[in-house]
Amino acid sequence: MNSPQIAKITEAKTENKDVKTFMFEYPKKMIPGQFFMIWIPGVDEIPMSVSYIDKDVKGITFRKVGEATNALFDLGKGDKIGIRGPYGNGFKINGKQILFVGGGTGVAMLAPAVEEAGINNISSTIIIGVKSSNELFFEDRFKKCGAEIHISTDDGSKGYKGFATDLADELLSKEKFTSVLTCGPEIMMKSLLDLCKNIPFQASLERYMKCGVGICSQCCIGEGLRVCVEGPVFDGKTLKNIEDFGVYKRDAAGRKIRF
Ligand SMILES: Cc1cc2nc3c(=O)[nH]c(=O)nc-3n(C[C@H](O)[C@H](O)[C@H](O)COP(=O)(O)OP(=O)(O)OC[C@H]3O[C@@H](n4cnc5c(N)ncnc54)[C@H](O)[C@@H]3O)c2cc1C
Repeated sequence: MNSPQIAKITEAKTENKDVKTFMFEYPKKMIPGQFFMIWIPGVDEIPMSVSYIDKDVKGITFRKVGEATNALFDLGKGDKIGIRGPYGNGFKINGKQILFVGGGTGVAMLAPAVEEAGINNISSTIIIGVKSSNELFFEDRFKKCGAEIHISTDDGSKGYKGFATDLADELLSKEKFTSVLTCGPEIMMKSLLDLCKNIPFQASLERYMKCGVGICSQCCIGEGLRVCVEGPVFDGKTLKNIEDFGVYKRDAAGRKIRF
């Protein structure tokens, strides 16, 4: 049941110089926030969130950062990858007005959640936070689902000049959001949690994963919470009690790496 299913990449799109989207046939049901284990034959198997959810077709959107993602980036339409999943819990999408905050590639996995909010007539505002405007992607996609879009760039090349969290602080003081959903650098998500004092909060965490199914414990945080099974989405109440959140992650050998 947990062995990879081989899938052909049916569509490949270059989103920017470091980010690509692959689509493939995968009829299993998924919800926004869940992830796959993607096997790049001869290289590695890595976790990747679902970035497109259609009945029979799914997609992933990824940034090349190291060996596995660079090898994946070199693939294209017609190439084959191995896919396990869906894994993880996913987002709970409810309420009246959701503020989504995506930092860097984290924006990709928020897209299906914004789309689902649109389908459920929930009003969405999204902050897309990137270092510079050449890293932006999915703007048109968010426009199509009727979300109010705010862009922040560290260098001021587009939209608000500064961090996504500073922009979020401004929006949170002006509007009444029923929840905040986020994915991005953990430091960003930690600052955001501190801003969302009484607002329901959900954040999708990234930890080094090996099995993806809760056996190896490589991705444990706090008191034995497995990011691959109990997460990757955790609510604010849980995160407030996890001492590693926003402080450190672990590498492949289990060594602590401070953010
Ligand atoms: C549940 C989950 C969902 C994920 N979904 C996505 C997704 O949708 N899209 C996506 O692009 N990535 C996603 N990731 C991260 C992705 O799995 C890693 O980027 C990948 O494992 C890196 O493998 P690598 O061999 O290319 O790099 P490695 O050789 O493992 O790392 C190379 C270098 O890049 C750094 N690095 C590792 N990950 C990241 C990162 N995310 N950002 C910046 N630097 C990093 C490492 O610290 C190291 O210095 C997800 C991770 C998890 C746990």
